[in-house]
Amino acid sequence: MTAKTRLSATCTCGQVALAATGAPILSAVCYCGDCRTAARQFEAAPGAPPVLSADGGVDYCLFRKDRVAITSGEVHLREHRLTEASPTRRVVAACCNTPMFLDFTRGHWLTIFRDRLPASAPPVEMGLMVKQKTGDRPCRDGLPAYPAYPAKFMIRVVLAWAGMGFRRPTLTW
Ligand SMILES: [Zn+2]
Ligand SMILES: [Zn+2]
Repeated sequence: MTAKTRLSATCTCGQVALAATGAPILSAVCYCGDCRTAARQFEAAPGAPPVLSADGGVDYCLFRKDRVAITSGEVHLREHRLTEASPTRRVVAACCNTPMFLDFTRGHWLTIFRDRLPASAPPVEMGLMVKQKTGDRPCRDGLPAYPAYPAKFMIRVVLAWAGMGFRRPTLTW
């Protein structure tokens, strides 16, 4: 992928689309309780696509927030917070109940549900928050998996922030 690569993330009915420019900061599967709880809530909505992966996590690609734009269907977006005070909002395309992205509002990155991206999206590189993983299905074969957030995750996120001049853009939605 080059700096000019543009990936589009679309809902299952095609009305909502985001464009992400350049390579993601990283791609990961998260097994934390919040991601799994939210995934089950999303999957329970009529017509919703599967959100949990076969090994019980949620696959994401993290992009710089200043490199993601909502290109269509903004009117269908609805935010979902696990608790009212949560700084994390998960945003769903209500046209077809498809979760699109997770926005840690104080963060400089935007976390796109990887299933929304084309198959050419970079593969998942690491498993996060395995200490909260439940069920007896092991993590997928050969994936480096970590109890929480490993140093290499933190370093990549901070390097991306340095590349942004330590700004914290907000998504215009
Ligand atoms: Zn839709
Ligand atoms: Zn998580």
